[in-house]
Amino acid sequence: MERDIRVYLCSGCGIGEAVDIEALAKTVQKDSKPASCITHPCLCSEEGLAAIRKDLTGERPCTVVIGACSGRVNTDLFAFPPPTIVERANLREQMAWRRMADEDPDDTRMLAEDIMRMAVAKARKTDIPEPYIAPAVHNSVLVVGGGLTGLTAALDCARAGAKVVLVEKESALGGHVAGLHRDTPQKPPYRDLEVPEIARKIEEVCKCPDIEVLLSVEIEQITGQPGMFGVTIRQGNGQKPEQAGAEAAKTETTGARKEFQIGAIILATGARPYDAAQLAHLGFGRCQNVITHAELEAMAKAGKIVRPSDGRPARRVAFIQCAGSRDPERLPYCSTTCCMTSLKQAVYIREQNPDAQVYVLYKDMRTPGQYENFYRRVQEDEGIFLTKGEVAEVAEEPDKSLVIQVRNALLGENIQIKADLVVLATGMVPSTLNAQILHLAYRQGGDLPVDQYGFPNSHFICFPYETRRTGIYAAGCVRQPMDSAAAVRDASGAALKALQCIAMTARGAAVHPRANDLSWPDFYLKRCTQCKRCTEECPFGALNEDVKGTPEPNPTRCRRCGICMGACPERIINFATYSIEMMSAMIKAVEVPDETEEKPRVLVLVCENDAYPAFDIAGRYRLGYDPNIRIIPVRCLGSINVVWIKDALSRGFDGILMIGCKYGDDYQCHFIKGSELMNTRSDNIQEALTSMVLESERVRLEQLALTEYHRIPELIGGFMETIKEVGFNPFKGM
Ligand code: SF4
Ligand code: SF4
Repeated sequence: MERDIRVYLCSGCGIGEAVDIEALAKTVQKDSKPASCITHPCLCSEEGLAAIRKDLTGERPCTVVIGACSGRVNTDLFAFPPPTIVERANLREQMAWRRMADEDPDDTRMLAEDIMRMAVAKARKTDIPEPYIAPAVHNSVLVVGGGLTGLTAALDCARAGAKVVLVEKESALGGHVAGLHRDTPQKPPYRDLEVPEIARKIEEVCKCPDIEVLLSVEIEQITGQPGMFGVTIRQGNGQKPEQAGAEAAKTETTGARKEFQIGAIILATGARPYDAAQLAHLGFGRCQNVITHAELEAMAKAGKIVRPSDGRPARRVAFIQCAGSRDPERLPYCSTTCCMTSLKQAVYIREQNPDAQVYVLYKDMRTPGQYENFYRRVQEDEGIFLTKGEVAEVAEEPDKSLVIQVRNALLGENIQIKADLVVLATGMVPSTLNAQILHLAYRQGGDLPVDQYGFPNSHFICFPYETRRTGIYAAGCVRQPMDSAAAVRDASGAALKALQCIAMTARGAAVHPRANDLSWPDFYLKRCTQCKRCTEECPFGALNEDVKGTPEPNPTRCRRCGICMGACPERIINFATYSIEMMSAMIKAVEVPDETEEKPRVLVLVCENDAYPAFDIAGRYRLGYDPNIRIIPVRCLGSINVVWIKDALSRGFDGILMIGCKYGDDYQCHFIKGSELMNTRSDNIQEALTSMVLESERVRLEQLALTEYHRIPELIGGFMETIKEVGFNPFKGM
């Protein structure tokens, strides 16, 4: 049905002081020809909102264009329910509030007019999205890993009403914590070691009717997508799958395989100790009485801490901290738990033998938060010596005792320590490092993409738990090194994300970061040339492929980033609320002055996640910047299709600045690699420039974090200077 476009202009918050709002309304009416265009002194007031609402009662549905504050604020006030579509035009933060002191009023007026033209052009191309409703969404969670994190996540999901399948490759539940003699202090006064509560948790899981536990199993394959993953489990190591728990006992497990329909997945497979074989320089493998934390823990649990060489009690024990950790050649990161583990094990040794002496040799002692209380308690023990220093050598004496040379000890001197036993505080590596666990039937590979250290995180700042595969959440030490208290919290966080994913998928809505977005990419496959760019570049592996290379979308895996839209050379991928045509229409809506007016025009395509809000913040701080830029937000820089660059250049824009999130190892791109992809696609852009005989300097890519809003005036100013040097675009006025 035809829609009425109705435009509302607010003169509040300084907008009316920046431009003549009545004159702007006349221009909007003349240029964009909406059904109506009215002004109001304060649109977000009850009267202002009532003025809008009164227009929405007609027979034809309306698209409302609100020229006022940024679309990032007052979202609840300006949320008119379907069939109304709302489009926001940022006249406040990015026009009135960014004005420079000496700005020509004509420049401000032209900016305001273009903002409104672009908004109406966008509104005309926006449809109400039809959400993708999956044929069946299963309220069930697969938890992979039966350690503390997996057990906690399973209980949390089950208590929230989901059915849970908990799979564990070992023949018993409990994981790493089940092997602990004692745990570090978890409650005030944080001075006393605790008996791990894992047995109680295992019992709760086994008694829970909504959790099915399968032991000694592995995942053979996971097909499908969030809401409807098909999971095949097979018995591991030639054993028959063992079942535990009341409900599980009733479950039929026929043959070697079992299949489940699953809504979301939590990966809680933990970590393993760093390979001590790499620590020969600290004596491991070379000296019989050099062992690891894990080995000492096992001895403590068995009741006797002795020298492996002769079984004699260990009277002098030295712990070497950061054994392999915080070492660029080995594990560059801190495993967070090793300091507390050594302090804990020092207490074991002193409890077993009050005459024993313990040395803890550290680079830095890290006992954050309340753990400092436990550190103090250990410091008070006269039999435990803690000293900073670098271990230069560990040598074995004929009687198998050890001599440790320590450089730069606390007072700067070199010292020598004799010990019966040396314990290496080895860090942890994620179970996902060089391992296949999930066996996903995804075009982009069978397991979760991981970072340089093997952790399957997707965005370490904004979205903990999210992996690069939608509907699959990582929790506990597989996500990042953490202790058991943090793992319990992590499990609950991941459980919430999994449950949220199932609920949103059932509504056809996206999960983070475009939470609640109902749009999804529509592929006009009749024109697909099977170039495979979309299936290769989708950061979330949402697209599979048929034998010819035609994409096979899995809509509920999709995060709606638009990167496939940016990649497609045929321009056949579009969303109801974000399309090639829409963006081209916005670019074409800008009035580009001809060369004689000496007013450059620069298109600034900004990532809506960080850069766009950074521009809003710059406005809020009244940081002035050049009025000759025209800002268009994009879902991700990776969603920019080269055709928009060509459109802008042929329209006469003098330059194009693309501003996205930071990329590299500490990337902040909300879609993992969108801004990086735009960088790698720059060859295509340069080709476009060359084919138009234009200078390469006219297009620039910049990275900007949200917190760097203060850089905006300089960043814009610098690019405008470049454009001044390059000169006006010869396509102007053609
Ligand atoms: S919109 Fe993003 S997540 Fe969805 S299919 Fe395209 S590239 Fe993949
Ligand atoms: S990028 Fe476009 S043309 Fe290429 S495979 Fe994907 S849909 Fe087909």
